[in-house]
Amino acid sequence: MLVAQNENRELINLLDEMPDSGQRFFCPACKSEVRLKCGLVKIPHFAHISLNSCHSWTENESAEHLGLKKELFAWAVSDAKVEVEKYLPELGQTPDLLINDKIAIEVQCSRLSVKRLWERTLNYRNNGYVVFWLMGNSLQLGKTLNPLQKDLLYYSENRGFHYWELDIKRSCLRLKYLIHQNLHGQLAYLTEEFSFGGQEFLEILKKPYSAQILKELKVSNDKEIHKYIRRQLYHRTLYWMRLQSRYYSEGKSILNEKFSRQWMPPGLDILTRQNTSRFCQITQDIASYYQNFLKYSTENLYPPRYYAIINQKKR
Ligand SMILES: [Zn+2]
Repeated sequence: MLVAQNENRELINLLDEMPDSGQRFFCPACKSEVRLKCGLVKIPHFAHISLNSCHSWTENESAEHLGLKKELFAWAVSDAKVEVEKYLPELGQTPDLLINDKIAIEVQCSRLSVKRLWERTLNYRNNGYVVFWLMGNSLQLGKTLNPLQKDLLYYSENRGFHYWELDIKRSCLRLKYLIHQNLHGQLAYLTEEFSFGGQEFLEILKKPYSAQILKELKVSNDKEIHKYIRRQLYHRTLYWMRLQSRYYSEGKSILNEKFSRQWMPPGLDILTRQNTSRFCQITQDIASYYQNFLKYSTENLYPPRYYAIINQKKR
């Protein structure tokens, strides 16, 4: 924590001022006592003496989390109203940053359950806040998408499915976009980095939605996909076993399928062509994107707007 109350109930923000350490400090949410810690590894911060009674803070924060909050505050505060760890009593939540009273920024450096993510996200949304989850090092998007990361995906017409990361070592905010998955469950995406303190922070968060030149993502198909499928069937992987039985029931064999399209947006099943997912952060209707994708996608991959434009022209 970077913000606590002193004995006079005044809020002390450690990013603004260093208080005298001879006084007592309290958590703004649960009112229990917290301690001011000034060590070598972490920046000065407050920590609960006991977390047992706190509904707003479930863990003591890592050096990465504290450091990122400090960096983002310094960056965002030059162009907007920014409050650090503003306790929102009607939600019982404390966003890491609250910008212009409406935009909650959550810096997530450790795992949380999918259930908790949904609860916290819907709590923001139902109370009129927009929330951006920015993920720390341990939750960076790698070669595959886990269920938690799936629910941290955002969507826009110009960047498709995308994911936000914070990198304290490289001092940047990173956008991974045009995220697609292939039959192996592997990911492909493009990456763009924004240095802390460079362009305006809020402008970057809005970037996926603003007018821009549409990018292309080059991918290639696995020419030996049948080998992979045989192996999956040999290991009795549930997804492939189910598909195989569906093919059988139609009098076909999955191994005769050509698999000319091996890359799809998340949530769209490659073979059944059905929408299989709900996404926690996505409120837009993406059904027409899926339809356009199935109609017009060729080998390389493009943002939803690209296929929408083709669809307009063909009408
Ligand atoms: Zn507390």
